Amino acid sequence: MKIAVISDIHSNLAALRAVIDDAARTGATAFWCLGDIVGYGPDPHECLALVRERATLCLRGNHDLGAIGVVPLEEFNPYAAAANAWTGRVLLDEERAFLRGLPSMLTWEDVTLAHASPREPVWEYVLSATVAMASFDHFQTRLCFVGHSHVPFICPEPASMRGCAFLQFPEQEPVDLGERRLILNPGSVGQPRDGDPRASYLLYDRDADAARLRRVAYDIAETQRRMGEAGLPRNLADRLAHGR
Ligand code: ZN
Repeated sequence: MKIAVISDIHSNLAALRAVIDDAARTGATAFWCLGDIVGYGPDPHECLALVRERATLCLRGNHDLGAIGVVPLEEFNPYAAAANAWTGRVLLDEERAFLRGLPSMLTWEDVTLAHASPREPVWEYVLSATVAMASFDHFQTRLCFVGHSHVPFICPEPASMRGCAFLQFPEQEPVDLGERRLILNPGSVGQPRDGDPRASYLLYDRDADAARLRRVAYDIAETQRRMGEAGLPRNLADRLAHGR
């Protein structure tokens, strides 16, 4: 079974559609979503509908919680807060209830999914050796998928802090997952921040026990145009072109 692991869609419909098409071409039969379906972008309803239709496992992230008022907007930077306030105004009650009912972390068979980190699944960024080392003590499975930082990586459990490394996925090459415990981040569908503006997701092949990073070009100008129509902050639209 091939699973498309997606995260941080952020209401970017053009990016999500491109990822869904690419996943179909690569033979994925299921989607796992690590949260932040909404926030930042212009199309929350359509993105929620597509995720609900396809994802067999789904988490909620800090922006989802900000948009429905569970996390106070003061905890976000001003641009993210403005986008979450706009999202909160347009969400339907039924969409709000769906987001409220999602977990921020779950375990399914031999994998853990957490939006941010397994230690603190809503806010903590797994970007440093210290946090990565601590993270391995907070899940019991071999694999843990996290999102939130919008930066794709694979981090094998090291023997010591010095051995802790955030490895990049080789372009187009599947990575053999082997026996090691691993934390994997698929990057962001709707707002990549690793300098590559293409949508990012992971293709997890459970039969081959391998993962492959996919980068998918999408119509960035279309999303920027829709953001302008919605009156979302200009710099949130601009950054999409730079992947930052
Ligand atoms: Zn996010």
